[in-house]
Amino acid sequence: MIHLEDINKSYRIGANSLHVLKNVNLHIAAGELVSIMGSSGSGKSTLLNILGLLDNYDTGVYELDGQLIRNLSETKAAKLRNQFLGFVFQSFNLIAFKNAMENVALPLYYQRVSRKKRNQLAMEMLERVGLRDWADHLPSELSGGQKQRVAIARALIAKPKVILADEPTGALDTDTSYEVMDLLKSVNAEGITVIIVTHENDIADMTDRVIRLKDGVIVESEKSASLS
Ligand code: ADP
Ligand code: MG
Repeated sequence: MIHLEDINKSYRIGANSLHVLKNVNLHIAAGELVSIMGSSGSGKSTLLNILGLLDNYDTGVYELDGQLIRNLSETKAAKLRNQFLGFVFQSFNLIAFKNAMENVALPLYYQRVSRKKRNQLAMEMLERVGLRDWADHLPSELSGGQKQRVAIARALIAKPKVILADEPTGALDTDTSYEVMDLLKSVNAEGITVIIVTHENDIADMTDRVIRLKDGVIVESEKSASLS
C-alpha cells in the first residue's frame, strides 16, 4: 500500500536547512496496523505529513497504492486524500460551532453528497463509534475521548483505505487512550490500514509493528515485543 524509498526532507529556515528525514525506506502492506515511534523532534509528523500528501519530499520515491506521488498539484493531492486517506490528530481538529453529526458529515460535503444522505451516513458512523446519542452535541460538550471518537468517525466516513493518526492519544488519559486504541484496532480489523504516530511505548505495543525513528533515520522496524 505504501512504499517509501530513500526519502529525504529538509526544511529551509532562512539561510539554513534542517535535514529532517534521512534516506527513509518504509513499506507498509494493506491491512497492517503499525506505529511510528520516536522522541519529540525525530521527524514523525514530517513523515506522516508526507504519507498523507500534506507535504512534499525532496528526493526519493513515494508510491501510494501503486501510484507515484511526486509534485502533485494541490487539486490532485486533495483528490487522492479524499479517495484514500483519513486523518486523526492529537488535537481532534473538530469545528467548534458544528455538532458531532455535522463534523462527521463534513468530508462528504466536499464530495457533494446531499445533506440528507451525508447526515444519514454520519449517524451510522457515530453509531459505529458508540456516540449516536451525542450527535447534536457541540465539541465543547464532549469529553476528550468522545471528541477523538467523533474525529475517527469523520476519518472513516469517506471509506478510506488508510487511516493516519498523529499522536491520537496524546491529549488523553491512560484509560481513554486505551479505548481510542481499541477503536483504531477494530477499524484495522475491518481491513483498513492504520498508521499511528506516538512517543508512548504502551501505545506502540498495541500495534502489530513498531517503526522506530531517531533523528530522521529509521533505526528499527519490527513486530512489537508483545507479539513476538
Ligand atoms: P516529531 O513529530 O517527531 O516531534 P517533526 O516532524 O514535527 O517531529 O519535526 C522534526 C524537526 O523538524 C523538528 O526539529 C522540528 O522543529 C522541525 N520542523 C517541523 N516542521 C517544520 C517546519 N514547517 N519548518 C521548519 N522546521 C520544522
Ligand atoms: Mg509530531
